[in-house]
Amino acid sequence: MNDNSGEPVRRYAFASDNTAGLCSEALEAIASANSGSVASYGEDHWTAGASDLFREIFECDCEVFFVFNGTAANALALASLCESYHSVICHETSHVETDECGAPEFFSNGTKLLLARGEHGKLTPAGVEALVLKRQDIHYPRPRALSLSQPTELGTIYKPEEISAITEKARAYGLKTHVDGARFAHALVTLERSPAEVTWKAGVDVLCFGGTKLGVGFGEAILFFDRSLAEEFSWRCKQAGQLASKMRYLAAPWHRTLTSGGWLKNAANANRCARLLEQEIRLIPSIEILYPVEANSVFLRLPDHVHEKLQNRGWVYYVFIGGGARLMCSWATTDADVHSLVSDLREIIAAAEAPQANE
Ligand SMILES: *Cc1c(COP(=O)(O)O)cnc(C)c1O
Repeated sequence: MNDNSGEPVRRYAFASDNTAGLCSEALEAIASANSGSVASYGEDHWTAGASDLFREIFECDCEVFFVFNGTAANALALASLCESYHSVICHETSHVETDECGAPEFFSNGTKLLLARGEHGKLTPAGVEALVLKRQDIHYPRPRALSLSQPTELGTIYKPEEISAITEKARAYGLKTHVDGARFAHALVTLERSPAEVTWKAGVDVLCFGGTKLGVGFGEAILFFDRSLAEEFSWRCKQAGQLASKMRYLAAPWHRTLTSGGWLKNAANANRCARLLEQEIRLIPSIEILYPVEANSVFLRLPDHVHEKLQNRGWVYYVFIGGGARLMCSWATTDADVHSLVSDLREIIAAAEAPQANE
């Protein structure tokens, strides 16, 4: 498949869950919110309704805020937990460390991220403790928060028991826990546990709940299970340019999809496609799957020539995350997308293995 310039037509189906559009429910919700004059800056009934739905779903009287994207959600939530001389413990592969251009440090006026290691992108209680105890003197930024990603950037998922074990350790040292849930719904679908069990009942203080990658909308919800941490958070959002004046358009898609169950349906489709992709790829020898497939991503170690030929066929995917080729599924991914990629992979490998084969 080539366009007129001879360049392959770019195929974005697995590049990121950001390449997918909005689900039709979200679009309809925006259209239906688009009538009349309503209160601005989050005083409207869609925002109130969506916030109430989150409280119901999480079985908790939490404070709810909506911001435009995940970087802002994480950075502002972390800033609300820390003073400038504090530090945040996170995994070395975490989005807050690797993909937010220093926003957490910037919005907290200098809070430092302390990086922990751990298999498959996960923090461990021992790793957290080691960082807390590494230095406790006045010359070192004092650990005050823990940030974990659910699912992780490598597509793995913490069980509620694992989260509890980590947050218990954190709490013992006076740390609050933040969860980067850019794909939180995807984790819920896999875990089959209640949202409460996976968050505040497991010791989570604040959750950034992604709607963007879920196809629900273009905003993220921030849930403070500990309301006292949300004092003055509205001012923080406003100062950061993250208080939407026409908030109804961020909230209405959440309202619609939380009511209909579309949020879980979207996540389930993404996870299902990733599992299908994994199963199909496991049938192809010479391609290694790098991490357990628990959410909506599949990471591969591809031989260089295979990578090159996939690119020549137009497939776009990231190779700067997790040390491999990341194939990401979304609410919009279809079985046909999966089969199309897999069939290209099969052809490329078969051609390479055939004597004198020429792609
Ligand atoms: C996508 C993503 C975010 C949010 O990124 P934005 O581009 O700022 O919306 C946050 N955390 C993780 C793990 C992500 O994958």
